Amino acid sequence: MATTAEPGTTSEATNRPTPAKGWGSDAADQPLRPMEFERRALRPDDVAIKITYAGICHSDLHTVRGDWPGTVYPCIPGHEIVGRVTAIGNEVTRHRVGDTVAVGCMVDSCMACDQCLAGWEVFCREGCTQTYNSPDRHTGENTKGGYTDHIVVRDHFVLKVPEGMDEARVAPLLCAGITTYSPLRQYGVGTGTKMAVVGLGGLGHMGVKIGHALGAHVTMITTTPSKGNDARELGADDVIISTDAKQMEEAATRFDFILNTIPVGHEIGPYLELLGRAGRMVIVGAISPMPGFHARDLIWWNRAVGGSAIGGIPETQEMLDFCAEKGIYPDVEFIEMRQINEAYERLIRNDVRYRFVVDMSKGL
Ligand SMILES: [Zn+2]
Ligand SMILES: [Zn+2]
Repeated sequence: MATTAEPGTTSEATNRPTPAKGWGSDAADQPLRPMEFERRALRPDDVAIKITYAGICHSDLHTVRGDWPGTVYPCIPGHEIVGRVTAIGNEVTRHRVGDTVAVGCMVDSCMACDQCLAGWEVFCREGCTQTYNSPDRHTGENTKGGYTDHIVVRDHFVLKVPEGMDEARVAPLLCAGITTYSPLRQYGVGTGTKMAVVGLGGLGHMGVKIGHALGAHVTMITTTPSKGNDARELGADDVIISTDAKQMEEAATRFDFILNTIPVGHEIGPYLELLGRAGRMVIVGAISPMPGFHARDLIWWNRAVGGSAIGGIPETQEMLDFCAEKGIYPDVEFIEMRQINEAYERLIRNDVRYRFVVDMSKGL
C-alpha cells in the first residue's frame, strides 16, 4: 500500500480522513470558489483516487445554480472524473495502486436489488448515490464531486481506463459518452441504421461519433448551417437544417432512430414525422416539461418516443472499452480550475467545442 504524501494516500496503519481541496459554491447566486474539506477514511471496499482531469457537464451548472430542486450547499460538483489510484481498502481486488481509473455520475448503490443485480445501478430501488449533491449511504453526508484534488469511491463504481487511452480526453465519456452510448446500444443502432442526431453540443457531438463508429448512417439535424459543417467533421454523413421546411419535408419517414439532445423543452412533433416505420426517438437532453404532441404522429407508422439516462456500471465499462478500441474521444478544451466561473458563462452561451475539461496538474 502506498505511503507517500500524495493526496488521498493512506496506509492501513494510518487510515484516517484526508484533507482535500476543491471548488464549489455557497449559494445559487454565488460563483464557485476554492474550498477545503475532508475525504473520508477508506472503508474496506473503497478506492482513493488522485484526480488528474475533470469534465464540466451542464448538470454541474444547473445544480450549483439551483435550477433543479434539492441542491445542498456548499456544493462541489463534477461527475466526469479521471485519475490515478493512490490507495485501496483491504477488501479491494479489482483495482491496484497506480491504476488509471475513472468515475462517472454515481458512487454507490444498494448492490442487492433487482436493478443493481442486473447492472442498472442508476435505477437502484433505494436510489443510487450520485457523485455530488447526494447523501452518502452510511453517513448521510452530502457527496462532493470531481472539482477536487482527490476522491474516495466504492470499488464497484470505479471504472478502468483501458491501457493506451489518452487519459486527458477520457473524462467527458463518463457522462456525455455513456448518456449517448447507452440508448444506441439499447435500440440496436448499428450497420445500416438510418440515425439522426438532433442538436450539436456535448451530448450531440458524442452521439455523432459513437453512431458513426457503430456503423450507422448519421444525419445531423440542426438549426445552424455552420454547425452542419462541424458535424460532418465529427463524422456525420448528412445534414438537415431544421428551419428549412423543404429539407424537413423531404426527410419525412426517413429515419430508424433519432437521438434527441436538445437541452430545453421543445415541440417534438416535427421530429416525430421524420421517423419511419417502428422508428424510435430517444430524448436524452431535456430534463424539463415538454409541450404536447399529437398521438397520430406515433400511431401512424408505429412510432415510439422514449428517454434514456446514463447506463449502469457494466455498460459504462463496455463504453470505455469500445471508445478505446475505436479511438473515440470527445472534442475538448482544457482549462484551469481557476477559470471555472468564466467557463460556466461560456457554457450558457454554448460557446465550447464541445466539452471543457479541467487539467488538475495546473493547480486548484
Ligand atoms: Zn453530466
Ligand atoms: Zn439497488
